[in-house]
Amino acid sequence: MYIGAHVSIRNGYLGAARLAYELGATAYQYFPKNPRSLQVKQFDERDAAACRQFCQQHDLRSIAHTSYPTNLAAEDGSYRMTLDSVRNDLAIAEACGSIGVVVHFGQYKGKAKDPLYGYRRMIAMLNDILASWSGQALLLIENNVGQGNPMGMTMEELTQVRSLIDAPEKVGFCLDTCHAFASTLWQGDNWAEVVARARELHYLEHVKAIHLNDSVFPHRSFRDRHANIGKGLIPQGGLQELLSTQEFQQLPVILETPHPPGQSHKAEIEYVNARLLHAVQT
Ligand SMILES: [Zn+2]
Repeated sequence: MYIGAHVSIRNGYLGAARLAYELGATAYQYFPKNPRSLQVKQFDERDAAACRQFCQQHDLRSIAHTSYPTNLAAEDGSYRMTLDSVRNDLAIAEACGSIGVVVHFGQYKGKAKDPLYGYRRMIAMLNDILASWSGQALLLIENNVGQGNPMGMTMEELTQVRSLIDAPEKVGFCLDTCHAFASTLWQGDNWAEVVARARELHYLEHVKAIHLNDSVFPHRSFRDRHANIGKGLIPQGGLQELLSTQEFQQLPVILETPHPPGQSHKAEIEYVNARLLHAVQT
């Protein structure tokens, strides 16, 4: 398993990879550009190529994450901006040698009464984004927690949307453990049951990255607040069981947990390695 955390690109793409490496990480996640904006970035291709090379040299795996305002079910004015922004993220991820770009399942916020309308918007957007995309980097759709909007919490929705787009081979999934637990996907102690269903739905084989987060709020709270591993409400044994899933053994596992200013994720990565991963393997 490749374990790491979300890191800053303050010092560029190569800088982010170096930062992850110095943390003792074997994987990391980054924002390809300003996370608060959909503005397309003219990126430094030499820096991205150097990042790719550094990651190959050190067997580091990376994933990118789209900006916060990205919404795959957006329409009207923000449709075009979202489209261009996600294409830009894919181009940067490809240049940096990343596995893919994580994007949250869409949230429909318009006025249409038809409950399927939001899903149709999302499928149209995915088709538009991917029509001209020929790179290796995948779009990795992340399960939502359901805060304020019920779309995208279930494996059924995720796999259904993937199966309905023109190029499903360009799409994988990112499983967020906090979102899964705080919504309806996983109780924290029933992974065997979830995994059986995940195999049946062809969800599991398309999971390409894991966001490893504990949860401040309980199961079915539909609230998204990440806690440090072992400090939240997800049973530690449940996380161990999830991480021991055979299909997950080569995946990047990324912490998106809080840490005090000035402190890094180094200790938490060590904790996960010692308490969750090695405990599993021995
Ligand atoms: Zn996440």
